[in-house]
Amino acid sequence: MKLGVVKETFPGERRVAIVPQNFVDFKKLGLDVFIECGAGSGAFISDNDYKKAGAEVVSSREEILRNADIVCYVRGPGADKNNLNDLNVLKKGATIVGMMDPLANPDIIQKVAKSGVTAFALELMPRVTRAQGMDVLSSMATIAGYRTVIVAAYIFSRIFPMLMTAAGTLLPARVFIIGAGVAGLQAITVAKRLGACVEAYDVRPEVKEQVQSCGARFIELGIETKEASEKSGYAKAMSEEFYKKQREMMFKVIESSDIVITTALVLGKKAPVLVTKEMVERMKPGSVVIDLAAERGGNCELTSPGEIVDYKGVKIVGLINTPSDIPIHASLMYSNNIKNFLKIIIKDGQLYIDKSDEIVTGTLVTQNGEIISEMVKKALVKT
Ligand code: NAD
Repeated sequence: MKLGVVKETFPGERRVAIVPQNFVDFKKLGLDVFIECGAGSGAFISDNDYKKAGAEVVSSREEILRNADIVCYVRGPGADKNNLNDLNVLKKGATIVGMMDPLANPDIIQKVAKSGVTAFALELMPRVTRAQGMDVLSSMATIAGYRTVIVAAYIFSRIFPMLMTAAGTLLPARVFIIGAGVAGLQAITVAKRLGACVEAYDVRPEVKEQVQSCGARFIELGIETKEASEKSGYAKAMSEEFYKKQREMMFKVIESSDIVITTALVLGKKAPVLVTKEMVERMKPGSVVIDLAAERGGNCELTSPGEIVDYKGVKIVGLINTPSDIPIHASLMYSNNIKNFLKIIIKDGQLYIDKSDEIVTGTLVTQNGEIISEMVKKALVKT
């Protein structure tokens, strides 16, 4: 079978869907790889690197799309207007694999369905142990969580660790992390390694132990509830009354923090606003808010996606497409996830869609002109 990879078109996107390290496995699966010229350049992988690994480098995007049985994307067709036309070019019966954000983009996913392709959206991977090696959200959140702290340290007006020097004692930075999922826990460990004094909060009470095992203090607000967790492990959307109470309870912690890193997300919903203008006003000038939820509307009221807002001396950073800022490792992790996933959907050199496998049914979004995913269908009804 032919595996095609085209250059990502989304503005600023530097990741590539597959890397040469995985070609031994692709060969074992019976896949011949065709990659668009320059597809790896953002991640510093040259056409020659791909050629040496055994790929055929092709200058025409259309040629790849017309001939490939499976096309792997970082961001699927419709992520931007430049790659939506891919749907008109893809070979009949083609399969596409990538991140398609189907819950946030129901109109695009309808177009994907209409085109007749079989589409797998990897963000919908079930959070079960067997699927960990294919969990793109965890991979990207790991990179993003690390990056939040590096950006904070770069912008912060003081240093992170405590230093006792002949020129005086410097107190450690106080970092407060809101949302302790994959990104938040990673941010905790990086901030700890830099010597900060780290506190964290999550609405799901089961996270407390994980926060503590990463070396941070878990802030108890007294409002954490088992009802905040979905069976799938994600946080549930809570009422505006709940969020109001949460903001009130967090006021003091935020006021005494130098750096606030927000990572709080609710699957398929706008991110809750947890840090208000009044809270930022009470932070010391020179402090920093890093909002990793900026693309989902932001956890901070003052966030502007992709920008650094200076509000009375406090900088609010609206991070966007953060994994793409670390393209080599983000691409490597993503490609490993793709490789592991292809091992599930390819048997004896042929596409094998086993609908009794939760990994397959969880991620399969469109097939034979229709939307298959129950989760996406539900999201469509709500829009
Ligand atoms: P996410 O990116 O959807 O959300 C980030 C965090 O924000 C979550 O921890 C969530 O509880 C938190 N949050 C939401 N609303 C909040 C609020 N109002 N205040 C504070 N925090 C709030 O989450 P994620 O990182 O993708 O993780 C989701 C779950 O999946 C977690 O339970 C994680 O441990 C689990 N997981 C399991 C596996 C596995 O294999 N088994 C792999 C990865 C993740």
